[in-house]
Amino acid sequence: MTNDTQKTWRPATQLVHGGTTRSQHGETSEAMFLTQGFVYDSAEAAESRFNGENPGFVYSRYANPTVSMFEDRIKMLEGAEAARATASGMAAVNLALMASVKAGDHVVAAKALFGSCRYICETLLPRFGVESTLVDGTDIEQWKAAIRPNTKALFLESPTNPTLEIIDIAAVAEIAHSVGARLIVDNVFATPLFQSPLALGADVVVYSATKHIDGQGRCLGGVVLSDEKWIVDEVMPFVKHTGPHMSPFSAWVLLKGLETLPLRVAQQTSSAAKIADFLAGQSNVTRLIYPGRNDHPQAEIAKKQMTGGSTMLAFEVAGGKEAAFRVLNALEIVKISNNLGDAKSLITHPATTTHQSIGEEARAELDISGGLLRLSVGLEDADDLIEDIAKALKAV
Ligand SMILES: *Cc1c(COP(=O)(O)O)cnc(C)c1O
Repeated sequence: MTNDTQKTWRPATQLVHGGTTRSQHGETSEAMFLTQGFVYDSAEAAESRFNGENPGFVYSRYANPTVSMFEDRIKMLEGAEAARATASGMAAVNLALMASVKAGDHVVAAKALFGSCRYICETLLPRFGVESTLVDGTDIEQWKAAIRPNTKALFLESPTNPTLEIIDIAAVAEIAHSVGARLIVDNVFATPLFQSPLALGADVVVYSATKHIDGQGRCLGGVVLSDEKWIVDEVMPFVKHTGPHMSPFSAWVLLKGLETLPLRVAQQTSSAAKIADFLAGQSNVTRLIYPGRNDHPQAEIAKKQMTGGSTMLAFEVAGGKEAAFRVLNALEIVKISNNLGDAKSLITHPATTTHQSIGEEARAELDISGGLLRLSVGLEDADDLIEDIAKALKAV
């Protein structure tokens, strides 16, 4: 068996070859090890596997060869010491938080969070004696003011969902470290190609691999990346004993996703930039948010910490929910869906779907108006997408 973990490769090469382990057959593509467990040649071999003298696989809830390949490949790209793959992005977020806190601890999180991440911080953690404070993530003073001596984790995503706000990761990391807390960054919207939170000072990076990493709408997955010690001491036992692990089948699909990730993200970002420029010139578009444009409210921070724009954009149409619904229903190529990062362009009306349950007041606080739409740009021809959107905007 060989394992390609050469560290000097550039990202595109790492994403094709990184972490590959070949069986005795020398297969070209990564093998899918659909097995729950492993057999041992003797009772002594089993004993030495369990006591750690002879390292190897024991049970797929702990580790699996296909899942390990996925972890090794993304770990190289992220520049992290260690990674644990999970069944979904939410399992990864929950794992990162649960491995950081115990009863009596405190968490600070940005208000603009993916809905379920907000639920964990606001509702679930307090049930187990972990208090949380939600702040406006773009206001560094609010992070400072929220910090307590017992704060153990700070949590944010940047760009945020759905309004694509940019949070200064290096500045928040410094605040976290002043009280010995970990900064956990949900890097889904930026992708590992456009933003490296660990290099900016974050301690933990989490992904929903369901999004750009799969990128073709096939399976759910997630991953937690951090330093070796924390992964081994805190994350591994949690995975081992509570079972949020990734299935080998999903790991295989996601390994294939990683191979084409740079091509897809580059193409989708280039089309998103073109669509953003088109939308900026439309009279019935009252607000446009795209991290790659100079008119983005945090354009300076975006330039400082991101190496590319985004495959996502948000815009508001004049006329509120009714107008937004007319646009959605007039689109032909762009599909109405709440997923993102997909080969197919997908559009969401956050106020009535992903952000319906947080209520009117929280939506107002996050600037999620009735006319706001979130667009995930896919791999279709950009000109076809612009024509589709132009036609739909006439319906406003
Ligand atoms: C989708 C998403 C998640 C949750 O991931 P799942 O794979 O759907 O569980 C978490 N954070 C962000 C920013 C997301 O977009």
